[in-house]
Amino acid sequence: MQTRNLIGGEWVGADSGREIQVRNPATDEVVAMAPDCGAEETRRAIESAAQALPGWSRQTAGDRGRVLRRLADAMLRDQERLARLMTLEQGKPLGEARGEIAYAASFIDWAAEEGKRLYGEVVPSSSPGKRILTLRQPVGVTAAITPWNFPAAMITRKLGPALACGCTMVVKPAEQTPLSAIALGELALEAGLPAGCFNIVTGDAKAIGGEIFRHPAVRKVSFTGSTEVGKILMKMASENVTRLSLELGGHAPFIVFEDADLDAAVEGALATKFRNAGQTCICANRIYVHAGVKEEFVRRLSGAMEGLKVGPGDAEGVRVGPLIDDDAMRKVRAHVEDAQGRGARVVCGGRPVDLGSGFAKRFYAPTLLDGFTDEMLVSREETFGPVAPVRSFETEEEVVRMANDSPFGLAAYFYTRDASRLMRVAEALDYGIVGANDALPSTAQAPFGGVKQSGFGREGGRQGMQEYTTVKYVSWGI
Ligand code: ADP
Repeated sequence: MQTRNLIGGEWVGADSGREIQVRNPATDEVVAMAPDCGAEETRRAIESAAQALPGWSRQTAGDRGRVLRRLADAMLRDQERLARLMTLEQGKPLGEARGEIAYAASFIDWAAEEGKRLYGEVVPSSSPGKRILTLRQPVGVTAAITPWNFPAAMITRKLGPALACGCTMVVKPAEQTPLSAIALGELALEAGLPAGCFNIVTGDAKAIGGEIFRHPAVRKVSFTGSTEVGKILMKMASENVTRLSLELGGHAPFIVFEDADLDAAVEGALATKFRNAGQTCICANRIYVHAGVKEEFVRRLSGAMEGLKVGPGDAEGVRVGPLIDDDAMRKVRAHVEDAQGRGARVVCGGRPVDLGSGFAKRFYAPTLLDGFTDEMLVSREETFGPVAPVRSFETEEEVVRMANDSPFGLAAYFYTRDASRLMRVAEALDYGIVGANDALPSTAQAPFGGVKQSGFGREGGRQGMQEYTTVKYVSWGI
């Protein structure tokens, strides 16, 4: 499959003619090629976005919303095709890919409506001869740099609000997963989005990123990816003082109190830990279970994990697909070996799964580690794999302290049936997102984002729209 980039409404290759390979993580086969673009193509994409900006931002929110709703509808109409494309390049089970397409479309749909409610204010003045108005205006040309773990949703939760607010955008998808992005571009044009409003550039991350931060027309960049790259981008953003939102790594604690509904907690742990083979920034990394219920929880969770079928994402009944690449596999193996070496007990899994010839060696058995400690890699670094480390705790105070003892602060989860504790712990957890008796908190209506080294800025909800607007204050002498 040969694919092209979208610049100023035209489908183009790299100036050099070079291409990057897109591989199926399950088999390592090359399934498509995408343009290997750099700074020059990025500059043209930014300039197309700048040209499209006045026309798009002058449209009414209602008119922009109609285009966006057509895009969301087209995504749902083509859900099966888009899901298969995603599984091909990313590896996740088809059921999850279908879910991601619906989730991705929901950001476009929600923003299409919310764009109509970007209200300004009339502020009571301190002087009889003045009136004070605030306006919410589009930021301008924006750029998005997105990761491979959610190839569609990580784009639409930036693109939807940006377009709905009247901004235009250049998107640089992850090199592993350009196909979902390109398919979105095709649907956007079909939906009637004017040329230049949404541009897609694939290829050399450093060259494309460098141009995005160098070009003065780019007024805001939204990035989802590793904390390591986020820090590099923050430095680059200082050049033009480019506005940023960063959604970076996480290390989510998952707490089960003694009064929890254990079945719900097991179901929640399964959902948050093994979705996308554990390759999400909000998946549970440290599971703390009250000593009084730990044995029972471990028994039930390992029992439920036995039922998780490992295999290629397009095979029937598969719940855990391949890891994205060989490095990811090495990291998971290293984390499990390190934990075992330091005394954790492997309750189930703890080994790769060999699917035989024709398949890459990137499948890892859902693994439950009992008795993780602070020195282990699993308690400090994101494993980004299907590994669930569990340990016990005695008191609420102790577990909140352990949960907060992390440089990250994206998502945290806990299960309790005590209403007072629910509020107390939700307030005490130093995280941007708290799932209280809920392991799947992400939704288009809610502000998603972190604190500490998990980044800043919010995506989704009213707050996610505000990221793409600037407040202007007009002091009106009368
Ligand atoms: P992950 O660990 O999930 O692959 P990364 O942070 O490495 O996360 O990548 C997320 C996105 O950031 C990808 O689109 C990648 O190409 C891009 N990226 C990586 N390094 C840079 C860089 N120096 N400048 C701009 N973008 C980058």
